[in-house]
Amino acid sequence: MSWSSGLIKEILNPNNLIISSELGVVIADKYPKAQHHYLVLPLADIPSIFQLNRSHLPLLEELHLLARNVVEVKGARWTDFQVGFHAEPSMQRLHLHVISTDFVSPTLKTKKHWNSFNTELFVPYEKLFALLEKENCFSRLPKSLRDELLNKPLICNQCEFVGKNLPTLKEHLLQHLQDPERTTSDKMEKQEVDEKAYFRDELKRKLKDKRNFLIETDRAVVIKADFPKSQYHFRVVAKEELRDITQLTEEHLPLLDHMMELANQIIEQQDHLESRDFRIGFKVHTFWNRLNLHVLSDDFYSMAMKRPRHWNSFHTELFMPFQMVHMLLSLQGSIESISEEKYNELRNQRTLTCNQCEFSTDLLLDLKAHLYQHWQRKEGEREQKKKMENIVRLLDEAKLNDDDHSVLKLDDAATGTAQPTPLLKAEPETKGTPTQNFRVQIQHGSGNDNLMYGPPVNMMNQLNPNNPFRNTPPLNINSLNPAPQHRPNYRARNPNQHRMPGQHGPRAPWNGPRFPPNPNWNPQNFPQQGFNMFAPGPSINQQGPPQYPYQPIGAGGYGPTGPPNSVRPKWVQKTQQKNNQNPNNVEQKPNLQNPNQQIPHQQKPPAQHPTQYARSNQQNRPYKNPQNRQNSNQNNNPNPQNPQNPNKQKYKNKKPANPNQGAQASQPTNNAVPKT
Ligand code: AMP
Ligand code: ZN
Repeated sequence: MSWSSGLIKEILNPNNLIISSELGVVIADKYPKAQHHYLVLPLADIPSIFQLNRSHLPLLEELHLLARNVVEVKGARWTDFQVGFHAEPSMQRLHLHVISTDFVSPTLKTKKHWNSFNTELFVPYEKLFALLEKENCFSRLPKSLRDELLNKPLICNQCEFVGKNLPTLKEHLLQHLQDPERTTSDKMEKQEVDEKAYFRDELKRKLKDKRNFLIETDRAVVIKADFPKSQYHFRVVAKEELRDITQLTEEHLPLLDHMMELANQIIEQQDHLESRDFRIGFKVHTFWNRLNLHVLSDDFYSMAMKRPRHWNSFHTELFMPFQMVHMLLSLQGSIESISEEKYNELRNQRTLTCNQCEFSTDLLLDLKAHLYQHWQRKEGEREQKKKMENIVRLLDEAKLNDDDHSVLKLDDAATGTAQPTPLLKAEPETKGTPTQNFRVQIQHGSGNDNLMYGPPVNMMNQLNPNNPFRNTPPLNINSLNPAPQHRPNYRARNPNQHRMPGQHGPRAPWNGPRFPPNPNWNPQNFPQQGFNMFAPGPSINQQGPPQYPYQPIGAGGYGPTGPPNSVRPKWVQKTQQKNNQNPNNVEQKPNLQNPNQQIPHQQKPPAQHPTQYARSNQQNRPYKNPQNRQNSNQNNNPNPQNPQNPNKQKYKNKKPANPNQGAQASQPTNNAVPKT
């Protein structure tokens, strides 16, 4: 065996393995160039980085996971390491270097050693990953560049020091190691400043990189949020050089209106949801260097929701709804920024209260499990609603055969007015009883309303030849709702007339402030059957006697509701529903057996349930525990002669005994809802 196959020989001896998984192993570098120096190798026979292509990306992820795990096993800090490949490796079998950045080691002996880790001769893992993703291969550096890099001066990796020779540099590095206090804080500060400055400009870069635009106009663009905090999360980014809302003046109101228009457009494009499911607003203390309007669905069910501050940035005064910004600008011409103190206080607020009910907790994990429940139920509701709408559409298609326009003209002539009148009114005498306490829908006076809600004809009158419903005896609305004859524009509480299918009704100009949750909504009832996420809770717009005349809902109004409570279908257990009625819909529950399932933003549902969390934690540790090594060596002796399929992602030690177990674990039961 030649010298260059030394690593292959090493990994054949199980005693050399610090940790291992089904796809890779970790050994100590025999000639470490720093305090910690490990090599992660695949079991598959891949000679070097030059044989890699896109198909190896999952394998690389696995190697990277092993790298993290070995650092953890060694009790070291991940941030003290650099992880990557040599652009010009000397040893055979692909190997990922996991090396601490102190570079204090007696076996660091030559300039080549130093420069191979501290110039472009070292290819960080992320860089290689991105390269492969983009170009499908990694090519050799030209020899001239290689020589140039090898001969670069000996620049310290932690400060600006340049060593005259290797011993001087090594002495200097030792000082860094012995006085970590000064140097690491310096280093971190510098790094942090650099990194932040870079990232703060990300939106500016995105504006240049036109590929990301979902919508573009001369003044703004819509892009997907990089770290979506909900299932649907977009940003409307202004093209004008404005840092944040504190730079806005009254003159920017047209720009704001324009941004809201784009927000509505992108919402319109989301078939799945409606405008009332979205939150639209600005972060008061935005990280980004560019004015950007958040448009996000109110599920807040997302992998990227990782810290309480993420939650707080959308659920405290740190988030300013669009209309508030608009109003402040109209009234006082500017918006003040908040003090750093207040910012920190709000950002670090401990109590996290659900945005959809009164559930409160100190633990983000609990909240996430709870949000997952909301999300799951909402999905079920939406499905039900879609079915309802389909039924309604079928019924309405039958009715629409009559000529609405002639009816309109006749009616206008008869009443002597062509003014559109509010069409749906609640009966004053019927208010108060549970089934009649439906939401009053207020119509805009646009011509479309007639198309959406039917002509202003007394359709209760079966004798009226213009009554488009006169020939539909099976659905005799008189029998459903005896209607008063004195209200020519009264619309019965019949779901078929409540909304026209396929239309969303008039959209509120923007998403309003979310009113405080209904105090009568008992969260204890949350997981019970019949729970209806769309059931309107009384809000300041919907409570009390109906108001006349009906005004269009202004800023802050809810969009139109679905059918009233009384006709809503009862909640059907989702599992049944799915099994029985919609076998193709897999996006609603995480399914470990189908890890590639598509859900919005290509996210896999985060591990929300506590037991799942344990699992996901385990997933971060694919290695065999060193304590169990004896055991695992016997059972699982890695056999490089028989390389594993690199696409196989399962680890022996985490495969559930029962194949259904995984799926079950990923499907939280009602017990997962923390009791308040
Ligand atoms: P590279 O230049 O990327 O090919 O690095 C090869 C690495 O393998 C170097 O860091 C060597 O110190 C290390 N090495 C060489 N021989 C052995 C061995 N027998 N066992 C473990 N590590 C080795
Ligand atoms: Zn230094």
